[in-house]
Amino acid sequence: MQIHSGLPESFNPDLYDMIVVGAGYAGSVCARRLAESAGFRVAVLERRDHIAGNAYDYVNEDGILVHLFGPHIYHTYNERVHTFLSRFTKWTDYQHKVLANIHGTLMPVPFNHTSLKLAFGDERGEELYQKLVDTFGENKKVPIMELRKKNDPDLVEVADYVYENVFLYYTMKQWGQTPDEIDPSVTGRVPIFIGDDDRYFPQAPYQGMPAAGYTAMFEHMLDHDLIDVFVGVDARDIFEIGETNVNVCGKCYGGEIVYTGPLDELFNLDLGALPYRTLDMVFETLDEDQFQPVGTVNYTTSEDFTRITEFKNMTGQVLPGKTTIMKEFSHAYEPGSGQTPYYAIIDPKNQELYERYLDRVQNLTNFHPVGRLAEYRYYDMDAVTASALELSDEIIACHA
Ligand code: FAD
Ligand code: UDP
Repeated sequence: MQIHSGLPESFNPDLYDMIVVGAGYAGSVCARRLAESAGFRVAVLERRDHIAGNAYDYVNEDGILVHLFGPHIYHTYNERVHTFLSRFTKWTDYQHKVLANIHGTLMPVPFNHTSLKLAFGDERGEELYQKLVDTFGENKKVPIMELRKKNDPDLVEVADYVYENVFLYYTMKQWGQTPDEIDPSVTGRVPIFIGDDDRYFPQAPYQGMPAAGYTAMFEHMLDHDLIDVFVGVDARDIFEIGETNVNVCGKCYGGEIVYTGPLDELFNLDLGALPYRTLDMVFETLDEDQFQPVGTVNYTTSEDFTRITEFKNMTGQVLPGKTTIMKEFSHAYEPGSGQTPYYAIIDPKNQELYERYLDRVQNLTNFHPVGRLAEYRYYDMDAVTASALELSDEIIACHA
């Protein structure tokens, strides 16, 4: 593999069987699979000046490995995904834990047995816990919006407490809307957990951090003789989208195109912009060993930011006397402003707009949208990897 900065004058798209737009999970997984399983020569175009997409990490000026685009914790139930990614990295045994700062008291999130006792006191907490166990069973996950539908007074008490103190203010900060207004799948990502497991992803069989970091994992994934990577290249500068084909560098391109950017951008937002939330990430290095007890503390009843991440707590890096923390401030994304479109806003109206763009790219020969942006989905890393593996299977099968 070679990583080129910018596109050389001599770049000839016809030398490549496939052009991949974006060097995040979606693009890098497809590039690797097609290179090694179909013998494709692949050009990866990435508009940022680095690979790894939003999972990019790097050692900052204080010597601390940080995640530039927000804390990324790998977890999956999907064996195929885990087997594939494990070819390119070893994993630490990090198990992510999150505490919510609720009026100054730190309680485990997902809200669990321990949180109940901290919130309601040992005796009442235990009673309420037993009611949850009797109703749903032990080691079960219950989304807050499901719990809110129950009529039992004890369950209403728990639901009201958790809704008010864990979800309402945090969700308002993150989405500008209440939990009732947003798609239930979003809050359903962090269900109440009826048990003692205080990990953020209880029951996920595979979890950890890439031992040498995410960027190193992507370097290995893209390290293949048939893959060329060009960073600092916006595909839109060399693409022209026609009715049924894409011109690349002024010529009709006959190979496959895997596109992992936003679909609306391909058409200059002519049907309207797909709405996103973006984040301002504010990093700070402190002259202390450790700032907080876990990787992430969510501020669910106070502050303007949603959460504070302390990277050393997640990566396991040992560096006495210094630690880098990061606060996330969420707001609406403005297209063309240079902001990063982080979170698709899942609702029927936005989905309908997305489908209208999708209809247009589905008319394009050999053009494959995949990933968090191109599918306009709230996708975790493992789900994007799974989607890219499936797309790769399809392209490989077409060329068998
Ligand atoms: P991206 O990583 O966004 O990659 C797309 C790439 O395409 C980008 O690098 C972009 O620059 C490039 N691109 C777009 N348009 C063009 C163009 N025209 N030309 C050239 N290049 C282009 N997932 C987890 O599993 N665990 C977590 O803990 C977790 N934490 C997260 C925290 C935050 C704050 C956010 C926002 C996401 C988190 N995720 C997490 C989700 C994870 O980031 C995504 O699932 C994953 O990065 C998506 O990969 P992707 O390839 O689809 O998109
Ligand atoms: N959420 C919340 N309080 C919390 C944790 C999560 O209100 O303490 C809600 C919030 O709406 C958030 C969603 O649940 O956007 C999903 O949380 P997750 O931690 O999965 O968000 P991500 O890590 O993807 O930003």
